[in-house]
Amino acid sequence: MQDIVNETNCLEGKVILVTGAGAGIGKAAAFAYAQHGAEVILLGKTTKKLEQTYDEIEKAGYKQPAIIPLDLKGATEQNYIDMANTIISQFGRLDGLLHNASALGGIMPIDQYPLDMWNEVMQVNVTSQFMMTKALIPALKLAEKPSVIFTSSSVGRKGRAYWGAYSVSKFATEGMMQVFADEFEFHPIKFNSINPGATATRMRAKAYPAEDPNTLKQPADLMPLYVQLMSDVYTKTTQALDAQPK
Ligand code: NDP
Repeated sequence: MQDIVNETNCLEGKVILVTGAGAGIGKAAAFAYAQHGAEVILLGKTTKKLEQTYDEIEKAGYKQPAIIPLDLKGATEQNYIDMANTIISQFGRLDGLLHNASALGGIMPIDQYPLDMWNEVMQVNVTSQFMMTKALIPALKLAEKPSVIFTSSSVGRKGRAYWGAYSVSKFATEGMMQVFADEFEFHPIKFNSINPGATATRMRAKAYPAEDPNTLKQPADLMPLYVQLMSDVYTKTTQALDAQPK
């Protein structure tokens, strides 16, 4: 993977957890955070993909990452509590959390949307992020200037036909970000959301199979904002940001 943004050590000394770090935007974010000096914790469903991200980071000479294989679909509250305790005992704190992993579900009329698919999308995109953030608050409180980033979508800011549970889940993600941010207004943890915009990944290709991916931004192109929000230079909270100009 080529250099993403100017080499600086703005994330030096930070421990950052990235969900969905085995592919697409999450993989690029994990690499960019490592490139800027962070120790990254790679969380995702498919261990092989996480190992590929791990290998690329190690090959580039950045700090050795950690790997947490976890399927957000089936993970329980206790899994997240155990994970948080492991992070505190191994790293002493958590400086950054990027909620990136998501399920797309189906693109179809909402009155035909199957309930089991609806529940799965809500579990992966909303409930798992609630459980994980809740469990990790003690670890985030141990960091000096912690940052939590949620991943939104343009259909999480304006509803769109046929985007069903995914669209509703992204509205919920924005709401969750705002509730956490408001409750932690007087605490250094900042909570923000990023809408990546159309980006050439597997999820985008699934949603728009006829689209030419060469017409889209690559995940690496978005990384300046992802890095900035994790760094101490960004001090705002409750912001719903766009990684690409509209
Ligand atoms: P990808 O499909 O390329 O990557 C998604 C990642 O999430 C994969 O690493 C995948 O792991 C992981 N993941 C999915 N389900 C689970 C699960 N149950 N448990 C653990 N990990 C899981 O998608 P993108 O990179 O495109 O998407 C990243 C984020 O950006 C998402 O939140 C998406 O909604 C958002 N987004 C993307 C846009 C785009 O155009 N690409 C536009 C707007 C928003 P595995 O590979 O192992 O399945």
